Amino acid sequence: MEKTYIMLKPDAIKRRLVGNIINRIENKGYNITKMKMFNLNEEILKEHYSHLVDKPFFPELVDFMMSGPVIGMIVEGDDVVVGMRNLMGPTKWIEATPGTIRGDFANNTTENLIHGSDSVENAIIEIKRFFG
Ligand code: UDP
Ligand code: MG
Repeated sequence: MEKTYIMLKPDAIKRRLVGNIINRIENKGYNITKMKMFNLNEEILKEHYSHLVDKPFFPELVDFMMSGPVIGMIVEGDDVVVGMRNLMGPTKWIEATPGTIRGDFANNTTENLIHGSDSVENAIIEIKRFFG
C-alpha cells in the first residue's frame, strides 16, 4: 500500500480545522496509520524545505511553520501521494478550487494549512525524516 507524509500546519490547528481536514482524509477512504503533534525547528525546516531556502519568502515560511505545533501523519492508500495532493489543492490559494482543502480554507500562499509529499520517493524520505 502506498504511503505519504501529511502535515497539518500551525494555521490548521489555530483555526480548529484539524477535525475537518482529518474527516476529508477519512471520507476519501485513506487510512491514517501514524499521527503525532510536535514543534518544528529551523534545522529540520531547512532540510524539509531545502528546495526553497534561497527564496525571498523562506524566512517568513520558517517563522510561520514554527509559530505553533504541527500534526504529522502517515496516510496510506492506493495512489495516495497524488490522491492527497488532489484533496489538498495546489500550493497557491488563488489557484485552489472550492472542494479542496486549500480552496475551501486558505487565503494566503504561505499559510495554506497542509503539507503533502509531492512524489513517492519524497514520501519515503519525509516519513523517515519525521517518524524515523
Ligand atoms: N510557499 C510560500 N510562497 C510561495 C510558495 C510556497 O510561502 O510562493 C510555502 C507554502 O507554505 C508551501 C510551502 O512553501 O506550501 C512549500 O512550497 P512547495 O512549492 O513545496 O508547495 P507544496 O508542496 O506545499 O504545495
Ligand atoms: Mg512541496
